[in-house]
Formats: sequence, C-alpha cells, structure tokens
Amino acid sequence: MTRTTYDAVVVGASPNGLAAAVELADGGRPVAVLDANEQVGGGVSDLRQPLARPAPRPAPHSTPARGLYLCSSSTPPGADVHGLCGYLAARAALRHLG
Ligand SMILES: Cc1cc2nc3c(=O)[nH]c(=O)nc-3n(C[C@H](O)[C@H](O)[C@H](O)COP(=O)(O)OP(=O)(O)OC[C@H]3O[C@@H](n4cnc5c(N)ncnc54)[C@H](O)[C@@H]3O)c2cc1C
Repeated sequence: MTRTTYDAVVVGASPNGLAAAVELADGGRPVAVLDANEQVGGGVSDLRQPLARPAPRPAPHSTPARGLYLCSSSTPPGADVHGLCGYLAARAALRHLG
C-alpha cells in the first residue's frame, strides 16, 4: 500500500479552501483537501456569514495552535466568492513553513 504524506490539510472544499489549496500547491507543498459534503464548492447559505464580519486582528489567518490557519470567510477580506481569505491564509502558512 502506498502511503501519501502532506505538508498541509485544508478542511472545506469551498471557494476559500480551494484557493488555499491551489496556493499551497503552487508553493510546492503537497496538500490534501477534505470536505464533509460529497460535492465541492461550499457556499453554506445562512445569514451568519453576511452578519458576522471579520474582526480586525494583527495576524487574522493564524491561530494560537501551531500549524493551524483559518481560511474561511470569517477572516479578512470577508464573505464573497473571491477566494482571497484562502489565498491569504495559504501565504501565511507558506511564510511559516519557510
Ligand atoms: C445568504 C447568502 C447569499 C450569498 N450570495 C452570494 C452571491 O450572490 N454571490 C457571491 O459571490 N457570494 C454570495 N454569498 C457568499 C458566499 O456564499 C460565501 O462568502 C462563500 O461561500 C464563503 O466561502 P468559504 O470558503 O468561506 O466557505 P463555505 O463556502 O461556507 O464552505 C465551507 C466548506 O467547509 C465544509 N465544512 C464545514 N465544516 C466541515 C467539517 N467539520 N469537516 C469537513 N468539511 C467541513 C462545508 O461542507 C463547505 O464545503 C452569499 C452568502 C450568503 C450567506
């Protein structure tokens, strides 16, 4: 049996999750994408997203847990289907991976 190892695991095959995965792969990091749904694309439609805007923080995509980054639309620049939250989270992860 072949064993595959990854430098990064993205949870959520959403606009931001997929943007993060592409950026990590472009940065030369093997990446796995997991989603609870069988269909990729995300787009969970409830009213929390437009109402719960990201709070300003110095490093909004990093967390206190080493190696854990947030790429959802709860991070800047916020909700929409632009993938920028994922891109920025992946850039933060790549900076820390060196
Ligand atoms: C009412 C409404 C209308 C909108 N209309 C528009 C519009 O017209 N145009 C537009 O551009 N944007 C629109 N948006 C915004 C857009 O849908 C979201 O901003 C965008 O989908 C957010 O992407 P995301 O990557 O943060 O996560 P999401 O798209 O929310 O995806 C999250 C993913 O993570 C997965 N997931 C969650 N928990 C787990 C888990 N524990 N394990 C594994 N997988 C998990 C989910 O299955 C999902 O695939 C709308 C949003 C709302 C709420």
